[in-house]
Amino acid sequence: MTAPGIRTERLSAFEELAEWQRALRAQFPIIATHPDLAYLDSAATAQKPQAVLDAVQTYLTTANANAGRGTYTWANLTTDLVEETRDRVRRFLGDPDAEQSAVHFTSGATEGLRTIARDWLPAFLADGDEIIVPAGDHQANIVPWLDAQQALARQGVHIRVRQMPYQQASGDYDHTALADLAGPRTRFVAVTHVHHVYGGNMNIHRIREAVGPDAVLCLDAAQSVGHLPVSVTDLDVDFAVFSGHKAMALPGTGAIWARQARGPGFTPGGWSGTPNTVGIASLTAALDWLDTAGTDRIDRWTVALTARLTDGLRHLDAYEILGCQTSLAVDSPVQQRCGIVTFRHRAIDSGDLGFILFSHGFMVRSDNHCQGSAGEQTSSVRVSLHVYNSVEEIDRLLSVLASLV
Ligand code: PLP
Repeated sequence: MTAPGIRTERLSAFEELAEWQRALRAQFPIIATHPDLAYLDSAATAQKPQAVLDAVQTYLTTANANAGRGTYTWANLTTDLVEETRDRVRRFLGDPDAEQSAVHFTSGATEGLRTIARDWLPAFLADGDEIIVPAGDHQANIVPWLDAQQALARQGVHIRVRQMPYQQASGDYDHTALADLAGPRTRFVAVTHVHHVYGGNMNIHRIREAVGPDAVLCLDAAQSVGHLPVSVTDLDVDFAVFSGHKAMALPGTGAIWARQARGPGFTPGGWSGTPNTVGIASLTAALDWLDTAGTDRIDRWTVALTARLTDGLRHLDAYEILGCQTSLAVDSPVQQRCGIVTFRHRAIDSGDLGFILFSHGFMVRSDNHCQGSAGEQTSSVRVSLHVYNSVEEIDRLLSVLASLV
């Protein structure tokens, strides 16, 4: 088995990686029991390994109670679970200092970003301040900030929203234009770690360089947590928001990680009632599973598959790839495409292409992908991968796509 994008001397390393991947793939019951189907929609939500299913069963049969209320054993176990999972999230995100940060559980990335915009941002901003919003990213990382602007305006506080500049050819942010855009009134910058349509790693270090040391960076890590190592310390961000369900935990899970350094402490407003305790149990198990598997290896695997798919598609004239066209191999010096490839057929409608692909057993996403107004407005087909996807699936997909010329 060969992997385009990996140099010849590294082939045996790839063979090792492939063996490791086969063992992990077998741990996903829904994948293992449906060999004729290929799940290529992990950017929407990820499949769950047996360890997560077991943790859910164990929690519900040994400790199910409400958190932070009762004084009996099951209630205490549940309270401990919730608090320990906060620390688990911190460790997973490379945050060494529990004293300086807060972790809040949400139903997903949308609720996380919305909570920051509603409960934290308004008190941080003053009349005349500026925020930068990535208007070509996921709507979940755009709409809450615009809503916050309107809510502030109703109180007589007028802030300016500036659109994050993009490089059209690559789908990456335009760091040079951003450096010119950011000024002394730029207080808050919303960014995405891995783009949900173009699949590029958005170079967060270069964003920090462009906006300077004082602006608060809020990272939408929905497509990176669980796919590659994410360290809030290394990235020097102030918020990181992710969807637990895209990182192999149950649906209805997610978290906000918040650091207290560049602004007031983060406390979600109001009483949010009973937490999703079974979801939190699944989140701890999912993060344990991902750490044991190794997010660096998961990253190498999905980047290699992505390069294989991108390179294969580039040779099929009937298709147009969105975003960067270069081969984004594992050791490429250019921006990496992390597990997501979006494309359209020049003659077949993308909705129809989604149905055709499903008739061949491929589950893909085909629409506008909830992208903001500065993004692609025409529908396309998105293939998004995780560690359970195989080289055979990519090759089969490429041969079906080739037959549709
Ligand atoms: N941000 C990005 C980059 C996403 O891809 C998504 C979902 O696809 C979201 C936010 C919203 O996540 P959720 O559906 O968990 O709220």
